[in-house]
Amino acid sequence: MPTIDGSRVIADLKRLAEFGRYKAGVHRPTYSQVDVESRQWLAGKFREAGLDPVIDGIGNVIGRNRQAERRLLVGSHSETQPYGGWLDGSLGVIYALELARAFAADPDCAGLGVEVAAWADEEGHYGNFLGSLSFTDALAEEEIDRIRGRDDGTLLREALERAGFSGRPRERVEPGRYLGYLEAHIEQGDTLDTSGLRIGVVETIVGIWSYRVSLIGEQNHAGTTRMVRRKDAGVAMVRLATRIHDRFPKIAGPRTVWTIGRMLIEPNAPSVIPGRAVMQVQFRDADPERLSLFEKALHELVSEANRAGPCRAEIEPTGRIEPRPMDPGFQSEIEAAAEMRAPGMHLRLPSAAGHDAAILSYRMPAGMMFIPSLGGISHHWSEDTKEDDIVLGAQVFADAAHRILRTAG
Ligand SMILES: [Zn+2]
Repeated sequence: MPTIDGSRVIADLKRLAEFGRYKAGVHRPTYSQVDVESRQWLAGKFREAGLDPVIDGIGNVIGRNRQAERRLLVGSHSETQPYGGWLDGSLGVIYALELARAFAADPDCAGLGVEVAAWADEEGHYGNFLGSLSFTDALAEEEIDRIRGRDDGTLLREALERAGFSGRPRERVEPGRYLGYLEAHIEQGDTLDTSGLRIGVVETIVGIWSYRVSLIGEQNHAGTTRMVRRKDAGVAMVRLATRIHDRFPKIAGPRTVWTIGRMLIEPNAPSVIPGRAVMQVQFRDADPERLSLFEKALHELVSEANRAGPCRAEIEPTGRIEPRPMDPGFQSEIEAAAEMRAPGMHLRLPSAAGHDAAILSYRMPAGMMFIPSLGGISHHWSEDTKEDDIVLGAQVFADAAHRILRTAG
């Protein structure tokens, strides 16, 4: 069995968190100077681990393993959310690095090994999952031409140029090179933490369906327009939003979540009746039938709003990420590894957040393992996990990788 070095894992995580350190967390947007420096540092660590590192044309850092005959691809993303946590993404990258070292050090693991990936821009500073999409042939050059940064509108091409990555080839998945892809991550939710469990075995990465709902009324003077004559798009939006929040709980599964995260009214002035209002509605579940049910309900509510008047309601889909089940065999091996090291302290659960593993799962069997997030806090600089859980997770993850590589032979 490959044996991990817990203090080395913690030390490397702390070192990686120095790139863009912010309070107890990290501010490391994709292609920023600190992000580029951290990727170069990672490439150096991959080399020390006996891997052959390359930073490719989209910023992925891939540590090629030329020795192993049977390989798993293992990794996560290395940039952070703005003023985000030190473990989101980084944990999976450092675990992957530690696996490379642990396998190389164990004579019993001869011929078995991992290739390590630090994906670029899973967090969507330019576009969600850019690195893993690029690696799996799902990111066209024309898209790279078009994409701009979500904060300042910088062209992705310019950002790549500044980072020193443009002109480099993009690494692509080689069919048959891997038995599959494994990713470790903090849970980000509070399921493990509140139940006192230590390892999560991800069954499915949830689907996310999103819509833009527009209400069209009549912009007019807030003093001279009598109430009976008004077509107030703001009122129509608030009413519809309330109906959505009343209806959805009636059809929800135990883990369905929904969010109206953005609302705009035009012209958004105190003495003008809003002529137009737009809200973005999103829901997530692991079950495609549940998602269809929600979509049907949302369409019905929009139709009802149209019948009730006086404003017109329109709906258009803006995004549809389908649920991605994780490989059942990988789930069993992660669970068996968890049972060895932490009997009875593990749980199968869906991932309510998106991950690179969902993208990779279109090209190879994929599996994910979670460790607890203290208080379920993530995408915030205070995000944290107990050191014991980080160390245990690394060993369970290594055991799981070993089980998969061994049984596949
Ligand atoms: Zn993440």
